[in-house]
Amino acid sequence: MTTSNGNEPRGVAVLRNPWLNRGSVFTEEERDRLGLRGLLPPRVSTFAQQVERLEGVIASCNTALNKYVILEGVHASDEALYFQLVMKNIEEYMPLIYTPTVGEACQKFSHIFRYARGLYVSSEDRGRVRELVANVPNENVDMIVVTDGQRILGLGDLGVNGMGIPIGKLALYTACAGVNPQRVLPVTIDVGTNNEEFLSDPLYMGLRQKRITGPAYDELIAEFIEAVRERWPNVIVQFEDFHNCHAFDLLDYWRDKICCFNDDIQGTASVCVTGFYTAMRAKKEKLSDQRILFLGAGSAATGIAHLLADAMVEEGLTKQEALARIALFDSKGLVSKNRGDNLADNKIPFAHDFENAKTFLEAVRTVKPTAIVGVSAQPKAFDKEVIEAMTELNDRPIIFALSNPTSKAECTAQEAYIFSQGKCLFACGSPFGPVSYNGKTFVPRQGNNSYVFPGIGLGCIFARAKTIPNGIFLTAAKRLAELVSPSDLDNGSLYPPLSAVRDLSAEIAVAVAQYCFDNGLAQVERPDDLGAAIRATMWKPTEEGACF
Ligand code: NAD
Repeated sequence: MTTSNGNEPRGVAVLRNPWLNRGSVFTEEERDRLGLRGLLPPRVSTFAQQVERLEGVIASCNTALNKYVILEGVHASDEALYFQLVMKNIEEYMPLIYTPTVGEACQKFSHIFRYARGLYVSSEDRGRVRELVANVPNENVDMIVVTDGQRILGLGDLGVNGMGIPIGKLALYTACAGVNPQRVLPVTIDVGTNNEEFLSDPLYMGLRQKRITGPAYDELIAEFIEAVRERWPNVIVQFEDFHNCHAFDLLDYWRDKICCFNDDIQGTASVCVTGFYTAMRAKKEKLSDQRILFLGAGSAATGIAHLLADAMVEEGLTKQEALARIALFDSKGLVSKNRGDNLADNKIPFAHDFENAKTFLEAVRTVKPTAIVGVSAQPKAFDKEVIEAMTELNDRPIIFALSNPTSKAECTAQEAYIFSQGKCLFACGSPFGPVSYNGKTFVPRQGNNSYVFPGIGLGCIFARAKTIPNGIFLTAAKRLAELVSPSDLDNGSLYPPLSAVRDLSAEIAVAVAQYCFDNGLAQVERPDDLGAAIRATMWKPTEEGACF
């Protein structure tokens, strides 16, 4: 890397630059060439020793939040080291740099803030967002993750403190799929917060005002999107943790205009549909023959339901036939045409002619589903009677208890396997350990969005996708389901091990890029060997520092 005057940075400027710094790993020759001699302890470490040193520091922390703080310190000072740590320990560190620990980090963001990262755009910046974007040091940006902090995980409105989410998500793009960390940008749009605790907290770092909504909100988002696309015309914008009151509208407005997606809606749907495709492999049935009942009718439920309907249409059903195979149960009971309340728009496509069912068990008896999907955050709603009813109806009932955290799960893995006498095909939204039943050990796996969004991002970056239609999320789901091994299937796992995420992401990226080439969405030439070309772009930290 050179500076704007063409010179290679030297001395402290190298050590203070996380893209260049390699701390004690700098060789004798580099220490002389870069003017580092005397600025580091004299003995040169290997990269592995540096990693081991930090692993020890992290292991010695007594809370997950302290581990997060240490990791973010490394992120801010030495990116190669940070990503080596995360990639080497992906299963252990993913819950630290992302959910659940990142949730606590966001709640306390204004109290633990040490290093600035990313871009903050506030409603006071209306009319000058281009100037802010011009201040971003990254020459090129391929991927932006943006939040307005209004619905951070299940924690509600965290205002500007939500920045921890785009930072964590982009770290996963790099760790899981090799998206170049110098070409990503976390963004928080601060339009105020309705969180009274934050508004009265002297250390809170966001605007001290209630949220703005309406045209002023939409215009700020539009100004931001236009400014980033003006500077980086091919940038992908991923909307993250927006409240339902904006998430669907933003997606509907922008999805055909720019390259963008919403991971809470579309990534969740993709990873859930993966579970269905895998379950179809196990049951040797077609998705279009299933009847699916959701517990919950919010953003996750309707996002998944629409993608399932698309998948059924791909198998030959009409849209009407597909929608008729999917039913929702919300806090007022089974969603039906004759329920007599004003249904929200997102529920209307799934309102059918059902008799009223007030309990979920009654709904199961009415709909006779082959699959139930819990996205309601109602703990224990899939009780013994519900699971037994599903087992009476089906040889292999599909039971997905996707709510998280664990305390909100509709049932545990143990309950699902025991109440169904080991017959169910189970996926979860929270981590559950293996379950032994009748001499067989089941290994339940989490429908974690991290299986799909990094590979989707990498594939779209590679192809320079014009837009990201739903077909891309189905493509990713199909590819991921194919990557579930026969031995995983035998163990009841509907997803591959997350430890393989880097290879899985590469495979998903290839399928996604192929989809872009086949559907006129790509803006680059298709290389002869797509797999090799994509893998060659995957960034990885090395002994020599951050490089491809
Ligand atoms: P949401 O607030 O948009 O929707 C919740 C829905 O649950 C609403 O439709 C509500 O009517 C319904 N509900 C509430 N109480 C109910 C009751 N007693 N009986 C029946 N329905 C009831 O929330 P969301 O974003 O859709 O998320 C829902 C859950 O799914 C959360 O726990 C979230 O963590 C989980 N989730 C998991 C994944 C994943 O595993 N990958 C992804 C997204 C969401």
